[in-house]
Amino acid sequence: MVKSRSELMQPQRSGCLICGQELVYGQNEKVRCFYCHKVSDSNVKCKDGHYVCDKCHSMPGDDLIETYCLSTELKDPLELALILMRRPRMKMHGPEHHFLVPAVLLAAYYNIIGDQKEKKLKIKEARVRSSRVLGGFCGFYGDCGAAVGTGIFMSLITGATPLSTREWKLSNLMTAKSLSSIANHGGPRCCKRNAYLAINEAVNFLKENFNIRMETNRNLECEFSDLNKECLKEECPYYPRNRPAKSVVSS
Ligand SMILES: [Zn+2]
Ligand SMILES: [Zn+2]
Repeated sequence: MVKSRSELMQPQRSGCLICGQELVYGQNEKVRCFYCHKVSDSNVKCKDGHYVCDKCHSMPGDDLIETYCLSTELKDPLELALILMRRPRMKMHGPEHHFLVPAVLLAAYYNIIGDQKEKKLKIKEARVRSSRVLGGFCGFYGDCGAAVGTGIFMSLITGATPLSTREWKLSNLMTAKSLSSIANHGGPRCCKRNAYLAINEAVNFLKENFNIRMETNRNLECEFSDLNKECLKEECPYYPRNRPAKSVVSS
């Protein structure tokens, strides 16, 4: 039976971590981990062939974000964000979203321009920088960490420093655009909504200022509204309009 998103997010759930389907035990064979892409021998995978290695299975949120963003070839930052958000170790809200936003943008950006070496360096640096953006930044400092995440992204791809000129302007403008969009949707905070808004602003900003086009899922419907007791529901642009909540796998 196909599981709902909220069932999938329960830490005690069984089944495939990617799609929730039953695990199938068979012959030992070579399988590739969905997150880190390493090949190992295993006798278990889901009905759709998903396999997650033991290391990725037990990784904390930030480690998994880094591992997956380094290995993936996807070019859609929203799709990347959703794949990571579906993991039970990614909380509904939390500062791991401050790293998630620059990580998925950097992964998509460097996958598009085809520079894996820079991607690795920049994602590692984004993790260091975003670790200083603490939980609750939005309410306590008036600067949502998802918006800061887009500023970190812009700073890293332009090589901005406090002494730069155009790069400095672009980095601060990037944060400003995301923050304005996030603020105008109103509180209370939702790390999912703010991450989607910030990523969309970064996609628009890249197109306007760099003529780089990131193809994204423009009709994104949030999969996590059931888990957020402060969800704005109809006031949120990502709230699913066709209730009940969609399932992971279409039946
Ligand atoms: Zn699966
Ligand atoms: Zn793995």
